[in-house]
Amino acid sequence: MSRDARTVGAPSSSVLDEPATGAAPITREELHQLARHRAATPTTSCYLDVDGRHLIRPQDLTRSVDGVLRRARARAGGDPSRLEDLDRIDAYLHSGFDRTGVRGLAIFANEAAGLWKVVPLPCSVPNHVSVGESPLLGPLEVALADHEPIGVLLVDKARLRMLVFSWGELREQEELAGDLLANDFDVSNSRDEAHLDGRANELHDRQVRLAARAAFEVQARSGFRRLVIGGPDHLVADVERNLHPYLRKIYHGRIDLGPGAGHDELRRAVDVAEAEIARALQAAAVDRLRDVAGRPDGRSGVAGLGPVLHALATHRVDRLLVSSGYEAAGWRCPACATLAECGPTCPGCGQTMRPVEDVVSEAVDAAAAERAHIDVCVGNADLDVLGRIGALLRY
Ligand SMILES: [Zn+2]
Repeated sequence: MSRDARTVGAPSSSVLDEPATGAAPITREELHQLARHRAATPTTSCYLDVDGRHLIRPQDLTRSVDGVLRRARARAGGDPSRLEDLDRIDAYLHSGFDRTGVRGLAIFANEAAGLWKVVPLPCSVPNHVSVGESPLLGPLEVALADHEPIGVLLVDKARLRMLVFSWGELREQEELAGDLLANDFDVSNSRDEAHLDGRANELHDRQVRLAARAAFEVQARSGFRRLVIGGPDHLVADVERNLHPYLRKIYHGRIDLGPGAGHDELRRAVDVAEAEIARALQAAAVDRLRDVAGRPDGRSGVAGLGPVLHALATHRVDRLLVSSGYEAAGWRCPACATLAECGPTCPGCGQTMRPVEDVVSEAVDAAAAERAHIDVCVGNADLDVLGRIGALLRY
């Protein structure tokens, strides 16, 4: 019996000849091309949250997008080139683009210089519009770096499947199906029950080892950063115990599916797991904020609008946490771009600041421009208690 004929991890199917994970929304070459773009006319970089999980109805999306574009137009100062680019972005967004699998958009526009690039992202990004001589790639790079592919291990006593969910795509990595164990387990050869039990245990243990090894080898190959496992409880419990320590660290939990699961139910289960993972990461960041924001040195984190704006002005924000829907009037200095809760004298340069209708969105813009990680938290009561906005600091 050639029971090890199909070794887990050996490239036994054509699937493995393809890239191990789904394609990123933008290629390295395209990113470099954008980074090299320079023109005499200003380039508009527009990041938009189009996530259907909280912008459910088309009118929710329209309201959100219109607010972003209205603020961008107000800041364009009548520059025809900037207004033309905003008009084109506006037209694109109102043309009813396909939101399937898309939670964020990055749009780079400079009509006069022939630049128009839309990058649909399967992850949400905070709303942000900036204008400069070159495209603003920081938020896109942060989104690419923050992307967490999820490994999905499905196991029962006879089958083993390993998939990776990445950039909105679910890809099969390994499949050991069929009579893997049944071949070995020829009941007719033995009537000795103790012997049969022994064989069953042996096969169970072997399946546990194969499953743990498949997860380890696919992780090494594909680099998934979270793991979920589905299968019968007693088997999954033993697989969990046999995971490599690194996999145990990135293990998220169980899903209620086995190796026979269809593509659509797998997609739904992974979507749920992905949302749970994102919420857990946000909750951990808010916990950390709560721990450090009260410290007297104010060095590792700050909470509340005033302290956050001050931290932004001194370029110390590493991670900005803001409650979804939080808006507040404030001030912005036309000379040095400092944001403040109270005006009109700029705390940075002493000039007279101008009032802005929503200094929170200005703060998100400023943080995005500095490549800070930005978490827009939905329904996080702990963050609300801390003043609906906070920041973990670089130093
Ligand atoms: Zn100033």
